[in-house]
Amino acid sequence: MAESILQLDGITCDYRLPGGGRFRAVEDVSLDLARGEVLGLVGESGCGKSTLAKLICGLEKPAAGAIGFDGARVERLGLRRRPRALLGIQMVFQNPYASLNPRRRIGRQIEEALALDAAHRWNLSSLLAAVDLPPSAADRFPHAFSGGQRQRIAIARALAAGPKVLIGDEPIASLDAFLQSQIAGLMRDLAAESGASLLFISHDLAVVREIADRVAVMQSGRLVEVGETEQIWHSPAAAYTRTLIEAIPRVDGRGVIPGSPAP
Ligand code: ADP
Ligand code: MG
Repeated sequence: MAESILQLDGITCDYRLPGGGRFRAVEDVSLDLARGEVLGLVGESGCGKSTLAKLICGLEKPAAGAIGFDGARVERLGLRRRPRALLGIQMVFQNPYASLNPRRRIGRQIEEALALDAAHRWNLSSLLAAVDLPPSAADRFPHAFSGGQRQRIAIARALAAGPKVLIGDEPIASLDAFLQSQIAGLMRDLAAESGASLLFISHDLAVVREIADRVAVMQSGRLVEVGETEQIWHSPAAAYTRTLIEAIPRVDGRGVIPGSPAP
């Protein structure tokens, strides 16, 4: 297997609750992301996917465990060192307004991110073309675009900074089905073109299957299964993964039977 760029080792994360209690959102998660790999992270709402993404970005601190990225220990970085050390990790969110500034022209936002990449992998026009937007898009504000277009702009902005790891936290959850595959495929292709690894978070295993080399399945804060995508799709080891696959609707209305040929 290729060299790894991101290493999670025994990560546990607790949220403090009002009244002094704690809630364990992530428990003992160990996971490696290889250079250039596309890893899907699936599991139902509330299982801890976003918390794991925040831990990787240094936005939450683990109660236990270590997070290695590009030679740094993420959980040890203080507020001052974090922005520079973690520039190589870029995130695309479900709501593109979380990644885009609604009051700034698209071109400016992308150029600000481009200035952060010492390797100058992209420029404004190549990035706009890569996400299938006309050069004139640069002069407009985020509200001028549809949801799918806005998500493509958020992807362009994330790539502009030259990430080694691109994280999509449910980046397709608010789009309709046709756009979901399109945006997922675009993220995969552009991560590959940029030489970035992609951690693609979704509750939809069917879309993840279209783009991921490997899949990690999460339930109630724990990883229940990690493996090659087709292996997991056709012969899931965990009962929970089987229920996820069986819940995927098929055109004929029946569930997908594990082990049966792919629809
Ligand atoms: P997912 O992204 O898989 O839907 P999250 O990581 O957002 O899951 O949340 C995991 C669990 O942690 C959920 O039960 C959620 O309610 C809880 N949680 C998330 N953020 C907080 C917080 N700031 N304080 C307390 N509980 C939280
Ligand atoms: Mg989430």
